[in-house]
Amino acid sequence: MKKEAGIFTFNDLLQYFPFRHIDRTQITPISKINPQTEYVQVKGKITSVETIGEKYSKRLVATLYDGTGEMELVWFQGINWVQKSIQIGAQFLVFGKAGFFMNTPQITHPEMELLTAENKNAKSFLEPVYPATEKLKARGMGGRQMSHLTFTLLQMIFEKDIPENIPVDILEKFQLVKRFDAYKNIHFPAAQLDYEKAVKRIKFEELFLSQLRMGLLRFKRHSFSTGSVFSIVGKHFNDFYNHHLPFELTGAQKRVLKEIRKDVGSGRQMNRLLQGDVGSGKTMVALMAMLIAADNGYQSCFMAPTEILARQHFETLRTMLDDVPVKIGILTGSSSAKEKREILKATKEGEITILTGTHALIEDTVQFKNLGLAIVDEQHRFGVAQRAKLWEKNNIHPHILVMTATPIPRTLALTAYGDLDYSIMDEMPPGRIPITTVHRMEYTRPQVMNFIKSEIKKGRQAYIIYPLIEESAKLDFEDLMRGYEEVKAYFPEPKYYISMVHGRQKPAQKQTNMNRFVTGDTQIMVSTTVIEVGVNVPNASVMVIESAEKFGLPQLHQLRGRVGRGSEKSYCILSTKVKLSADAKQRLKIMCETNDGFKIAEKDLEIRGPGDIEGTKQSGLLNFKLANILEDRKILEAARLTAEKIIEEDATLAKDENRCLKEFLIAQKGKTAWSKIS
Ligand code: ADP
Ligand code: MG
Repeated sequence: MKKEAGIFTFNDLLQYFPFRHIDRTQITPISKINPQTEYVQVKGKITSVETIGEKYSKRLVATLYDGTGEMELVWFQGINWVQKSIQIGAQFLVFGKAGFFMNTPQITHPEMELLTAENKNAKSFLEPVYPATEKLKARGMGGRQMSHLTFTLLQMIFEKDIPENIPVDILEKFQLVKRFDAYKNIHFPAAQLDYEKAVKRIKFEELFLSQLRMGLLRFKRHSFSTGSVFSIVGKHFNDFYNHHLPFELTGAQKRVLKEIRKDVGSGRQMNRLLQGDVGSGKTMVALMAMLIAADNGYQSCFMAPTEILARQHFETLRTMLDDVPVKIGILTGSSSAKEKREILKATKEGEITILTGTHALIEDTVQFKNLGLAIVDEQHRFGVAQRAKLWEKNNIHPHILVMTATPIPRTLALTAYGDLDYSIMDEMPPGRIPITTVHRMEYTRPQVMNFIKSEIKKGRQAYIIYPLIEESAKLDFEDLMRGYEEVKAYFPEPKYYISMVHGRQKPAQKQTNMNRFVTGDTQIMVSTTVIEVGVNVPNASVMVIESAEKFGLPQLHQLRGRVGRGSEKSYCILSTKVKLSADAKQRLKIMCETNDGFKIAEKDLEIRGPGDIEGTKQSGLLNFKLANILEDRKILEAARLTAEKIIEEDATLAKDENRCLKEFLIAQKGKTAWSKIS
């Protein structure tokens, strides 16, 4: 039972909520059961019991007669146990999912309750139906037994056993029932309305407590953490800003920089999430923040999820900061031993001011003289623990700036990253022409290739992307190779040159192929999703995504973001087979309709549900028992505002009315995963 349902304590049992209720007075005559019937409750007498079949096909079949007709009850497991507990002639109340076999209604693994003199007259309340797992059922621990257990437990406990944890004025304000009543009524409501009130209360409680916990974490950090103070904006920054900035910053970039400056000047450690759409210019923000650190005598590191991206950042910084006297280094998994040694030494001695790289940066061997700022690009690829390791790189924790690859829906960000401060870049650099996205069937590939030809003729470049969900997946790899041969046939040398990049290549090989595309030596890049994130080749104007139905929305949007970076009109072509699932069709439609990453993120959340959004699953933060941050947005918003108000007015929960809350949080400490989030 423990393992099957995750129930270890009384508390777990109380929190094992029914997924619906049945009206125990509602009994269906067997003759009325039809193929449309789903769950039924019938009452009748056992007229026969026999085992049929041998070994693996062995099953127990009982016949139940209720005066209107006969039905079969079937067990494949737990046969001995069931056989002992049902006798011919005994009356049972039977519940389960109705099916038909050879025109006879039947229930497989029904829930059975022996009717005795005492319980013959069915109780007239709503009875809970629990999500019993098949294994438990076979051992006789079906939902009905669960309900007996819960009922007994509830008889034994009093209000003090489920103490209130929400201050009374909040209960009143939102018309929430008391905690004890909610727990009672979610299992055994007298009426439907009582049940609904219980659900509302428990949802609010879940969301409110999670918001409060994260808010308190943020508050604690704000009040007690010490961060390095970047008090001046000095020579490096001003010099770059006035003489080397190749374009005017967007309003959003300026605003975010201001937010960052305020944080790093405050004396508190910054912990900020920067949400920006693909192509909104996050790298420039990172660069300028690092210049502020440099002006104050601090080192920075800039961590990227892939080797290609880390190298690209390195090149960007080097070019941009050509005339600015700061030393930039790069450290990745493929740096040679000699390079590594030199970089590590220079970093430790403070000679290197900005260190870019992959997750090689977080290894213990990497030591800084004075790390003041750590920037994590495209953070969803980094685990929380990895992020936390960055903190430890300096006595005074460095300021942390986490940048998203594609936007996360606001609801989700506030719930899952509620302990980080939040900046948003919702403005694109000027002069961008919106990308046109179309959906094409695979059999129109010749036209697509011709279109690429016409773009190349104008001097543009093109990406053709193949799915490689797992870098080792053999089939996908063969697809890529076949695709490459096909593309080569359309685009023969010496008129055309093609780069190919995939996960099986050595880093140096990847880099060479990438570089040839960046410099324009090759016009076409055939690749897997290794180039998905961040790569910046403004001259590329066509993005073809093969088997686009296999990609999720954020990934499609991220890939599309590789084009439309220059001043030329760009195109994204989503190529698929003809037969598509409903979900895939919906994804493709959304992609063709909008370029707005924030909108796409919301849609993605709608289609997939919060459980599947990258990076949130492990955190356990979204594992609410009842609340659903999508359907219960309104409750979430109310819970968030309420939590904020409490933190603002009484962050130590010292006030009398907040005592119940404080006691509850103290009792809960260590039982949840939230404290592990950085
Ligand atoms: P992302 O936010 O996806 O990381 P990048 O930082 O790679 O985007 O920027 C995308 C492109 O936009 C780059 O070529 C960059 O030089 C350019 N860019 C950034 N900021 C501006 C700006 N304010 N005006 C014009 N171009 C900009
Ligand atoms: Mg980027």
